[in-house]
Amino acid sequence: MKINIVGAGPAGLYFAILMKKIDPAHDITIVERDGPNDTFGWGIVFSDKTFAFLKDSDEASYLDITAAAERWDNVDVVHRDHKISVRGNEFLGIARLTFLNILHKHCRNLGVDLRFHTNVTTPDRIAELADCDLLVGGDGANSLVRQTYSGFFCPSVDVRRNKYIWLGTRQLFHGLTMIFREAEAGLFIAHAYKFDKTTSTFIVECPPETWLKAGFDRVSEDETCAYLAEVFKSHLGGHPLLSNNFVRWLNFPLVKNKRWFHKNIVLLGDALHTAHFSIGSGTKLALEDAIALAGCFAPPLPPPVRMGGAGGGRVEAALPEFERVRKPVVEKFQDAALNSLTWLEDVQEHLQLEPVPFTYRLMTRSRRISYNRIKWGDPEFVAKYDAWRAQQPSAGPIPAEFLDLFQKKTFAHLATLMADGTPHVTSVYVDYDGQHILINSARGRQKDINMEKRRHVAIEIPDPDNPNRFLAVRGQVVEVTEQGADEHLDRLAQRYLNRDKYPDSMRFPGEVRCIYKILPKHVTVWDPFGR
Ligand SMILES: Cc1cc2nc3c(=O)[nH]c(=O)nc-3n(C[C@H](O)[C@H](O)[C@H](O)COP(=O)(O)OP(=O)(O)OC[C@H]3O[C@@H](n4cnc5c(N)ncnc54)[C@H](O)[C@@H]3O)c2cc1C
Repeated sequence: MKINIVGAGPAGLYFAILMKKIDPAHDITIVERDGPNDTFGWGIVFSDKTFAFLKDSDEASYLDITAAAERWDNVDVVHRDHKISVRGNEFLGIARLTFLNILHKHCRNLGVDLRFHTNVTTPDRIAELADCDLLVGGDGANSLVRQTYSGFFCPSVDVRRNKYIWLGTRQLFHGLTMIFREAEAGLFIAHAYKFDKTTSTFIVECPPETWLKAGFDRVSEDETCAYLAEVFKSHLGGHPLLSNNFVRWLNFPLVKNKRWFHKNIVLLGDALHTAHFSIGSGTKLALEDAIALAGCFAPPLPPPVRMGGAGGGRVEAALPEFERVRKPVVEKFQDAALNSLTWLEDVQEHLQLEPVPFTYRLMTRSRRISYNRIKWGDPEFVAKYDAWRAQQPSAGPIPAEFLDLFQKKTFAHLATLMADGTPHVTSVYVDYDGQHILINSARGRQKDINMEKRRHVAIEIPDPDNPNRFLAVRGQVVEVTEQGADEHLDRLAQRYLNRDKYPDSMRFPGEVRCIYKILPKHVTVWDPFGR
């Protein structure tokens, strides 16, 4: 096959390596705007799970990457100048440039034609590059390939409110460190970790109000670094903050695409989807995309749909297969990353917490890490958290380690009673006010009629990430109210639909919403595997 790739980032390079391994006869060209030693940013961080799948895909590059990486197992959270460490979280940090150089080397060894300093600037040039068996748009979050065919990919780019800047420092942070500093201009958050023996990444994030108040719209690059070094002075051990290529404040773009391919053109990595840097998964997703797409070309091949061109039939079968298998996985990750970024955007509401509960909330913000997972990794930290919890006023009837179920997109199963005593079950959004389980429904529905007349209900609330883990509650509907029900539904839409408001198109004309408050009488929890 003749394959053209725009962009020598992790996605494009790794895909080229894997395709050459599948068939050395593939003719692969990568065009890259920058030189082999220019890159934005500093170091990147991966979880150890990411490294495990790199080993299975290409052991040669895996060995080079792990040899150049730094490892640690702690997340450090600094809040009110107090550092809390949570262990049991294996990570690896590596300089982005080292990582890319390793992939360049393996591409070259396999015969990939790497063309640096080749900026593709026009849609016409993209169309020319598409004259091959497969064109891959691995050209990052501002992808020109995506823009050229935007009518087919139907992208959405949600530019988030916080400002961030990617800096470096010689101060070594021996763990994934998050520092929360309330300075005169407002709140600053640093995400820092070492990625080699001498350097750490130091990303600073702040709300737009803080950014404006600090005057970052008017100051030079050097002044920006000096200002931020002063804000984080007590953590930098006298080291300055360093820039690399450019010092630029950005707003994180949350990229999604409705369709992932068009004819013989496919998007990969950040061009296709972005995931907020606070869960450190952008490169992981880019590499996994490459593995998934290459997997769709590896034997056994999907049946050819059309014979023609060297790879015509294969491409026509592989691209839909890639979208089919990969899209649900990516969407799940993007949901978790969105939870993490919105938690940080709204972090003001958590800042009044003491360092230990603040750290616990931070650790569970993406809703992918549960109480039991943290306990498994660091029982000492959880003991401190439990001690804090025990001092708090009554936590209500639901055990704290299951409260995450009310933060996830959890579909609960509500059983009510029909007039003849037979049970009726429906799937519902579920919420909790600290004392009652809350359901939101509309007047006239069967469950509404049942709950108005017969107040005993049962509800099973399974963990969407692990159906083996669930909460089962029997109780009584103690209140049915229309008051605040529309606003409550909008809040549920934020969690379940990632929308500010529940769409009118999903409501019946004249629908009257109600909140049903269920007082738990009997609560059962089930979490047999505990992680
Ligand atoms: C502040 C920050 C911190 C991050 N930290 C982490 C982290 O810790 N861990 C992690 O896994 N991920 C992290 N990421 C995300 C990660 O950088 C990206 O998700 C990852 O690089 C995506 O790889 P990619 O190959 O899709 O795109 P990119 O790495 O963006 O590569 C795209 C390439 O295409 C080239 N290109 C673009 N347009 C053209 C054109 N028109 N012509 C020719 N070439 C072109 C670019 O020069 C670039 O080399 C972070 C991102 C940010 C912004």
